[in-house]
Amino acid sequence: MAKKQQAIQAIRGMHDILPEQSPRWHKVETTIKAVLDSYGYREIRLPIVEKTELFKRSIGEVTDIVEKEMYTFDDRNGDSLTLRPEGTAGCLRACLEHGLLHNQVHRLWYCGPMFRHERPQKGRYRQFYQLGVETYGMAGPDVDAEIILLSDRLWRRLGIRGNVELQLNSLGTIEERAAYRDKLIDYFKRHLDLLDEDSLRRLETNPLRILDSKNPDMKGVIAGAPELMDYLGEESRNHFNELRAMLDDLGIAYVLNSRLVRGLDYYGKTVFEWVTDELGAQGTICAGGRYDGLIEQLGGKKNFAIGFALGMERLLALVEMQDDFQVEPTVDVFMIRVGSEAEKAGMRIAEQLRSELPKLKLLVNCGGGSFKSQFKKADKSGAEYAVIIGDDEVSQGVVSLKPLRSDREQRNMPVSELIQVLSEWLAC
Ligand code: ATP
Ligand code: MG
Repeated sequence: MAKKQQAIQAIRGMHDILPEQSPRWHKVETTIKAVLDSYGYREIRLPIVEKTELFKRSIGEVTDIVEKEMYTFDDRNGDSLTLRPEGTAGCLRACLEHGLLHNQVHRLWYCGPMFRHERPQKGRYRQFYQLGVETYGMAGPDVDAEIILLSDRLWRRLGIRGNVELQLNSLGTIEERAAYRDKLIDYFKRHLDLLDEDSLRRLETNPLRILDSKNPDMKGVIAGAPELMDYLGEESRNHFNELRAMLDDLGIAYVLNSRLVRGLDYYGKTVFEWVTDELGAQGTICAGGRYDGLIEQLGGKKNFAIGFALGMERLLALVEMQDDFQVEPTVDVFMIRVGSEAEKAGMRIAEQLRSELPKLKLLVNCGGGSFKSQFKKADKSGAEYAVIIGDDEVSQGVVSLKPLRSDREQRNMPVSELIQVLSEWLAC
């Protein structure tokens, strides 16, 4: 006898999206797509694997992602490849490679899995889905305002506008950040005894990231640190003030957060996050900013770029918490067929219904069974109506329509009438 095999389980932090969950994903994805369409954003599809060098050069060698979160492996021919931890680098790589940044503007989006070797917990996974929105060729700040407006509209459509808050900051230019960085190192060196291990490590490599520390014991020392805003030059300051004026004019509320630095090296000028306090520690659902400098860093000519990434699992979690969140049923009509003539006729009628009513969601019972057992299945399917065909109905040239969730009466009718009735009742 064959030895019983042990079942293989998924990798920690990489989850399945089961059929009962997928309608919720579809609803959110459909809403996202409609909002993106209404702003003229176009989809770009990108590989999931890129050369490791791309991420090292763009995200930055001393960031959490590159230091400890990447899934990196050698290809069979020895090239170092990495499962994408985020989408911005690959999107920009593709646009440079295909000459899309030459005298053009682009508004793009993509959605798909990203991979980071983090400690799995609620809202933090090793494979997770991101929607990325990226724009190229526009210096802003009007397009900065546009992508914020777009996200704001998305929250409204999903019914979570009251549950999220916009936080805004400016990181200035590389030169301005360098001057600030020196002041910040001076300051933290005067308070070495208050720094945790992570911050001590970051002090020389990436001191701005200390401001982003999630350790509550660090709050005090961070609060006393110098403000980057005081080191911004005139152009950066104007850009930021103009953006603020536009948001004010459009009635988009925001909170200035001078500690918002983002975990990736490529940002400059505008940065923002949409945060919620309803998801515990993993409260950022969407984060983005301007990354003009990255284009030259990846070998392009001076140009402009701003975008954001939205964590789909966190967004879903927040959307599902709303009382009025409902998804459409996956089945409208369940067809019950009993008897050999009825089985044949049923299959033909089902095809006819699908042709006449293209939006109808019709599930046909397969594998036989008594009326009773098929009714049970119909009920469980969530269908609004059952269409019943027995050999009697076949000989009379009718089918029977039974409402399953209302007290409308069951009635026999020819197929032509069935089509009319379903089209009216289901608006399909
Ligand atoms: P965090 O501070 O939560 O680690 P991050 O700064 O690393 O976030 P980004 O790289 O800016 O995140 O990614 C954008 C969004 O993607 C985040 O705001 C979050 O919603 C989502 N996200 C990031 N990492 C994960 C993860 N491991 N699991 C699920 N969602 C994630
Ligand atoms: Mg992170």
